[in-house]
Amino acid sequence: MTKLAPVYPIVEHFYSLQGEGFWAGKPAYFLRLGGCDVGCSWCDTRHSWPQEGWPTYTPAEMLAWVTQTPTRHVVLTGGEPTLHSLSALIQTLRAVGLFIQLETSGAHAPPSTLPDWITFSPKRFREPDPVYYELAHELKVVVHSRSDLLWAEAQRARCKPNLPAFLQPQAYQSAALEWILAYLKENPHWRLSMQWHRYLAIP
Ligand code: SF4
Repeated sequence: MTKLAPVYPIVEHFYSLQGEGFWAGKPAYFLRLGGCDVGCSWCDTRHSWPQEGWPTYTPAEMLAWVTQTPTRHVVLTGGEPTLHSLSALIQTLRAVGLFIQLETSGAHAPPSTLPDWITFSPKRFREPDPVYYELAHELKVVVHSRSDLLWAEAQRARCKPNLPAFLQPQAYQSAALEWILAYLKENPHWRLSMQWHRYLAIP
């Protein structure tokens, strides 16, 4: 019997620069998967919340998009990509030596085939799977209110020591940026993450 290839709902896919966190400035191919059940009140990608209604693609089709570009760096983002069983996709991308970065709130268990890099961005709206505090390669906390700084510190305390840790103002918020800048100077174990793609007006 022929085994059907898994398919994934894709909201959008594009070649651009990573705008956030550790890999900011890196040319990367983005695969934005549909579906999120975290429910952040300030979410700026609400259109990605539904799981249904998106065109679906096989890992081989997605690999073909990526390999039409010279980048070796793929970002799996959402939505919340861990809603999906990502292992088949990761295995296909890895088979040709691509570097796979997963951006997740940690809302669901990690794929059994792990990506090369996990950008862990926990949200107050849903307790993450605790395994991400061990697996994360970077921590990125979005700051929407001042109390998020304290919450971010509590998140960092649960991660591995010296994990690269970023504070990011929620969608251009100038007040949040001011809080972060002041906080960073007092707490230099954090770094600033700006959404550079927004400032550059690129996808
Ligand atoms: S986890 Fe991301 S996509 Fe989901 S609601 Fe929060 S900000 Fe939006």
